[in-house]
Amino acid sequence: MAVFFSFFQTIFVGPDYRNIYPEFASSQHRTAMNYNKLFSKIYNGLEISEDQGKVASYIPELQNVNTTKFGVHLTTLKDHHYSFGDSDEKFSVQSIAKVLALVLAYKLEDEKLWERVGVEPSGTPFNSLVQLEYDRGIPRNPLINAGALVISDILVSHFEEPKKQFIEFVRKISGIQEIDYSSRIADSEKSVGFTNAALINLMKSFGNIRNDIDDVLDFYFNLCSIEMTCKELSRTFLFLADYGVCPYTKERIISTSKSKRINAIMQLCGFYDEAGEFSFKVGLPGKSGVGGGIIAIHPNKYSIAVWSPLLNKKGNSIRGMKFLELFTTETQASIF
Ligand code: GLU
Repeated sequence: MAVFFSFFQTIFVGPDYRNIYPEFASSQHRTAMNYNKLFSKIYNGLEISEDQGKVASYIPELQNVNTTKFGVHLTTLKDHHYSFGDSDEKFSVQSIAKVLALVLAYKLEDEKLWERVGVEPSGTPFNSLVQLEYDRGIPRNPLINAGALVISDILVSHFEEPKKQFIEFVRKISGIQEIDYSSRIADSEKSVGFTNAALINLMKSFGNIRNDIDDVLDFYFNLCSIEMTCKELSRTFLFLADYGVCPYTKERIISTSKSKRINAIMQLCGFYDEAGEFSFKVGLPGKSGVGGGIIAIHPNKYSIAVWSPLLNKKGNSIRGMKFLELFTTETQASIF
């Protein structure tokens, strides 16, 4: 009978992971112990040498980071925490913050938002000018630089004090008052921000930027300069695993439908020109940044943040991607 049940379960329900990984059995304590153990097992098997990646060097301040750093933090909806390595060290979240700006703009604009920015993967580099000219100033999606500049323009239009009101929003959804911009990183990016200036000028010429260009760029560079630890990042994004509700305060941040759509945009556009690769190998919606961070969401379960500064040729953290691939493979849990 037991054999029959096990056969039935494997065929119709899927394997019982508690048998494959006894450490994932019911006791919360044992699960906790072993997620941490799994992190260290995966990290130790990564086999990625220092010469396989590079730190982002086009923003001078991002070069000054220790390339051996590696941190991971997973927060579950029940507020259980699992971490490994440099998970309490701040790093520059860069493009990951674009998702939070998108959430706020979507909340304020509803479906009108999509008149000014698309929802399709771009298939071009994150700071590409070429496609923008063909598409007459309408960026392909809100997570490439052009799209995030339009989102920044929308927030600048809505708020009296955009930088202050935006960071207050981030502090509210994370419950962490210490999260802040880094003027050091923002100034460094501003000093070399010629491509972003070109993108915004082109969009302004097509009428898709309403505010003063310098005000929007200042907001954008500050947005990208936000610093968080892996623990803070995974807490901040947990509402997207809870269908738009902040799990700590139970306050609804965005509707279930909007939360679904934000996750869908991350799934399709969250990894520059490598979103297909991330979907294929990891199977979770997520977003990366050139600071080496990655956030990934397992709806109804957890959010996980990984940080390792060495990037692959597409601009994604090389160890971070591999770590998440092995994590969803080992746990046999993804959205697919
Ligand atoms: N602030 C960066 C830029 O505009 C963001 C890059 C990124 O993380 O994708 O180039």
